[in-house]
Amino acid sequence: MTGQETLKKILEKNPGEPEFHQAVTEVYESLQPVFDKHPEYAEAKIFERIAEPERVIMFRVPWVNDKGEIQINRGFRVQFNSALGPYKGGIRFHKSVNLSTLKFLGFEQIFKNSLTGLMMGGGKGGSDFDPHGKTDMEVMRFCQSFMNELYRHVGPDTDVPAGDIGVGAREVGYLFGQYKKLTNSFTGVLTGKGLGWGGSLARKEATGFGLLYFVEEMLKTRNDSMKDKIVVSSGSGNVSIYASEKCVQLGAKVVAMNDSAGYVYDKDGVDLKAVRQIKEVERGRIKEYLKDHPKAEYHEGSAGIWNVKCDIALPNATQNEIDGKSAQTLVDNGVVAVGEGANMPSTPDAVKVFLENNILFGPAKAANAGGVATSGLEMSQNSQRLSWSFYEVDSKLKQIMQNIHKSALDASEKYSTKGNLVDGANIAGFLKVAGAMMEQGLV
Ligand code: NDP
Repeated sequence: MTGQETLKKILEKNPGEPEFHQAVTEVYESLQPVFDKHPEYAEAKIFERIAEPERVIMFRVPWVNDKGEIQINRGFRVQFNSALGPYKGGIRFHKSVNLSTLKFLGFEQIFKNSLTGLMMGGGKGGSDFDPHGKTDMEVMRFCQSFMNELYRHVGPDTDVPAGDIGVGAREVGYLFGQYKKLTNSFTGVLTGKGLGWGGSLARKEATGFGLLYFVEEMLKTRNDSMKDKIVVSSGSGNVSIYASEKCVQLGAKVVAMNDSAGYVYDKDGVDLKAVRQIKEVERGRIKEYLKDHPKAEYHEGSAGIWNVKCDIALPNATQNEIDGKSAQTLVDNGVVAVGEGANMPSTPDAVKVFLENNILFGPAKAANAGGVATSGLEMSQNSQRLSWSFYEVDSKLKQIMQNIHKSALDASEKYSTKGNLVDGANIAGFLKVAGAMMEQGLV
């Protein structure tokens, strides 16, 4: 079978899953030079095997809202690949969640986890539950019902979920509490736990901080740095907030952030303390920033954020948030580097625009791997029953991000075009998984 036929067959086998098609196509196209050099992978049908999840669990999540009404949501866990270790990947609670979203995220997670150099397989889970506007008690009842099924399928050596969109410390706490009650065991079954009961220092900051460590490495290849750079960071959740905080620490200024309704532009630099208060404490909308910052601007529509002129663009909200047109606007406005904190935030057209214009482009599976890497460090601490200092975890995170950048850069040079980190990350991530699968036999 030719390469194109193989890809076509995989896509046809998974109809109605556009995000999954997008992720699989990108990786498959990057891997062509690898398949040319290693015909044994095609013979062993390694890619076809990787594109098929080892297991998909889909389940009913019934719960009762504060009015006493019965609600039904759908829960998922996609256990994609365990060649390198227990399945590992976040849980997403968002109204848009479906199998396509979770399969794309789980598929990407395989290569991302491989890039970290830690022993973690790839998985992802979630539900179409929308946490917006729900009370703490409603969120707790939902999380407990979700875990009533999930606990059968996860465990510290089997599958270790974490947070993602809509799942932060509060949700991880409720999920962990229910797992502990159902299994009568206190184990490191989830990461992103509270600091007093097994969580790791620097986990909350890790994806955002790691993103900037990666962007710094990209900039160094052109003798540049974050100092005095103007940054746009989309989203205003976990990744965006801590990426922005690190930008400020490195001497840059973040001038715009958004949520799904609109964006804030503050030419003096966004006040991150205020954003944290609105988003983390009050669980409010970014629009409320204007109450105490009357000189800032608020614009309806989240995509408008990419019209703001910047040196560094950090898409930190969600998939496909930058299309080809927005990418062209960023390029026309002089963007120097793009670092993907969110998963697959640039459409294929956008990626093409960035690469064709020689923009430093850090693809998600490399650039945002700091979150899962630190989850891996949380697992190590749990196994040892020790807690490392913030400095220790942050130093390890920085080293991991530098290693990921080097692996992707080296692989791009060996197999593709030096500096094409899309190809480089896909190839470096794939080679380790493929090697392990070959050695473990047809399972
Ligand atoms: P949060 O739930 O903390 O924040 C998500 C942010 O993105 C919110 O501001 C949300 O706004 C916004 N958002 C969500 N959907 C849309 C949309 N359709 N259009 C515009 N804005 C939107 O999630 P995280 O910060 O944890 O995750 C953000 C991204 O980073 C995701 O792609 C996630 O998969 C990825 N990621 C996260 C990691 C982590 O450690 N948390 C690790 C690696 C990747 P609103 O409140 O209006 O919904």
